Amino acid sequence: MGWSWKMGRMFGIDVYVHATFAVFLGWVALSTYLRTHESAEMVVGVLSMLAVFGSVVLHELGHALTARRFGIKTRDITLLPIGGVARMERMPEKPWQEFLVALAGPAVNVVIAAVLLVGLTVAGATLVPDLANARGMDSFVARLLWVNVGLAIFNLVPAFPMDGGRALRALLALRGDYVAATRLAASWARASPSSSACSGCSTTRSWSSSRSSSGSAPPARPPGCG
Ligand SMILES: [Zn+2]
Repeated sequence: MGWSWKMGRMFGIDVYVHATFAVFLGWVALSTYLRTHESAEMVVGVLSMLAVFGSVVLHELGHALTARRFGIKTRDITLLPIGGVARMERMPEKPWQEFLVALAGPAVNVVIAAVLLVGLTVAGATLVPDLANARGMDSFVARLLWVNVGLAIFNLVPAFPMDGGRALRALLALRGDYVAATRLAASWARASPSSSACSGCSTTRSWSSSRSSSGSAPPARPPGCG
């Protein structure tokens, strides 16, 4: 993806950050400072955003590493302000593989949330962040917990291009209902030309096939956005 910088390599997969993400972080820093007039709050604001996007990277790695078990390589993962994109060399061939790959991302967010929940409970900390009065690192972990709960729920919405839509389509195909599965995929294919449909992938965008492989994919296996 153009205008992207390589941040590093995780599990053999290059992780990039798009230039617009840096602009977004700058906006978070500036808006936080203008609101609070405190440098420390500005740093916390940026750290919070980085923690959220760290969760997004792990979400995408969930997709990528599950796909790897089925022999599918992921070319790279790119972070955008609207989420992450894992570019896979091809789509899974079998519906059950697609089902598992689709659910692996949200499952990572569920695990993160569960670990944070246990940690907060053991520490006797509050699970419900006081957003109105939170200062500094107050309730940072609790906020991250609920962000991950939100990411899991949001991505499980059963509509394309969300992970839930892919899982539903795979499930329909597994049951032999290819007509319904293809209709579901076609509904996304019709919507895909609009940019708003793509931004609908939002905070943690679904895993996607590469642009090159998506061009040759059959209609029943549409590419994710990005
Ligand atoms: Zn996903």
